[in-house]
Amino acid sequence: MVENIVIIGSGPAGYTAAIYAARANLKPLMFLGFQSGGIPGGQLMTTTEVENFPGFPEGIHGPQLMANMNAQAIRWGAEVVTEDVINVDFQQQPFVIRSDHRVVYAHAVIIATGATAKRMGLPGEETYWNRGMSACAICDGAAPIFRGAELAIVGGGDTAAEEAIFLTKYARHIHMLVRRGELRASKAMQERVLKNPKITVHWHTVPIAVTGDGNLLNGIQIQNTLTHQHSGMAVQGLFYAIGHTPNTSLFQGQLHLDEMGYIRTQSHSVATNVPGVFAAGDVQDHEYRQAITAAGTGCMAALLAERWLSEHGLIQEFPTDNSGTPIPEILPENKEPPTVHGSSGLNSEPVVDLTATRHHGGYALRKLYHDSDRLIMVKYSSPTCGPCHALKPILNRVVDEFEKQIHYVEIDIEVDGEIAEAAGIVGTPTIQFFKHKDRVAELKGVKQKSHYRDIIQQYL
Ligand SMILES: Cc1cc2nc3c(=O)[nH]c(=O)nc-3n(C[C@H](O)[C@H](O)[C@H](O)COP(=O)(O)OP(=O)(O)OC[C@H]3O[C@@H](n4cnc5c(N)ncnc54)[C@H](O)[C@@H]3O)c2cc1C
Repeated sequence: MVENIVIIGSGPAGYTAAIYAARANLKPLMFLGFQSGGIPGGQLMTTTEVENFPGFPEGIHGPQLMANMNAQAIRWGAEVVTEDVINVDFQQQPFVIRSDHRVVYAHAVIIATGATAKRMGLPGEETYWNRGMSACAICDGAAPIFRGAELAIVGGGDTAAEEAIFLTKYARHIHMLVRRGELRASKAMQERVLKNPKITVHWHTVPIAVTGDGNLLNGIQIQNTLTHQHSGMAVQGLFYAIGHTPNTSLFQGQLHLDEMGYIRTQSHSVATNVPGVFAAGDVQDHEYRQAITAAGTGCMAALLAERWLSEHGLIQEFPTDNSGTPIPEILPENKEPPTVHGSSGLNSEPVVDLTATRHHGGYALRKLYHDSDRLIMVKYSSPTCGPCHALKPILNRVVDEFEKQIHYVEIDIEVDGEIAEAAGIVGTPTIQFFKHKDRVAELKGVKQKSHYRDIIQQYL
């Protein structure tokens, strides 16, 4: 079967393209992505409030905005798979798109793979990544190791400013390392940073190495870019906020890219140099890089793709009545597992049902740890962590497969900080597995379903 349109990527650009194409009865197939170029839902999954997306006068949480877009695309008939595209062939028509799990043919392709946070590759980075180093303050800032700590953040743009301010909620003090003698952030953001007593801006300063005790980061080496003098800074965390690289490695040799690696599109259009292939959002835009411009170009891509299919007599229509209840893939709030906590009376202890599979909170975890023989899978997350939201439906499906055979406990590290500290959590999401009071495995970040399944099967 040949698809009308395949959309690669699930940020605002990909979802908007999907909504338009689905409403045109084209039943687009979307590769939401998984790990290689960010996470399903894209960059807004790593932020808190989005204040400038039209239609939300009070602002909206980034992950919630993306969950809404996902639900809207599915409601109109978009098909979605949580997979990375690993290879494309645009030399032949229909085009070929491959993931680890499938090969798909399509008459038109919309690329909306966005951009990924840059890393500096400092000496020590490999050792201390996720052990005090992160490229997502919003995801990891609430981790116990950063609470009340001195932290450094690298960068001088809006993201660095926003993240530095966010980190002041948890840390004792933030050192903002800025390569130049000025901030690139907007005037409003600059003011908020410079007036914040918990932030010190170090001008003309870059980190050159990270140090630690072998387990956790405990300092950085910095260099003054004017005098070239080196010095040490005792911090417990280093956050990168130094911009993004377009996710275009897949398309090298297939499409025209510019010198920075962004996909070249035609003037006032989102058409690429290959007829039938369109590019939308940050993957082709290093100037505006906003959710609304990404969404706007996603709309353009879907309209142009539909026109292109129509002109070439390639359209297959899939009418839908769209009256059914949407079943969103990444909408975390839609599949809230039954909560097994509560109380048998006002002054009594919470009741933990040892026969139930799903549980919440530190009390349930302690009880199960001592009283249950089942394998316990614990998910540590924080409310502002986008990857945690992306992981939720993946874990829900795995837990469904092992109903009544395991316990699955969700711990919010903001609520159960002591438990998270005792468990050595330095970033979220982290999944730990316990059997007979031993910690038998740990997985950090978002992994394929099979990783969690394999560990469970090993220790059932
Ligand atoms: C911390 C932060 C805060 C921000 N705040 C705002 C804000 O308040 N307002 C605003 O307008 N903008 C904001 N932005 C910018 C905004 O998030 C981006 O401009 C927007 O998300 C770009 O959308 P996109 O669809 O082009 O790509 P992205 O959001 O980057 O999404 C790319 C998608 O492609 C997928 N993908 C990548 N590679 C593959 C592959 N090989 N196969 C399949 N899928 C793949 C990824 O998984 C992801 O789903 C913020 C950005 C950041 C980082």
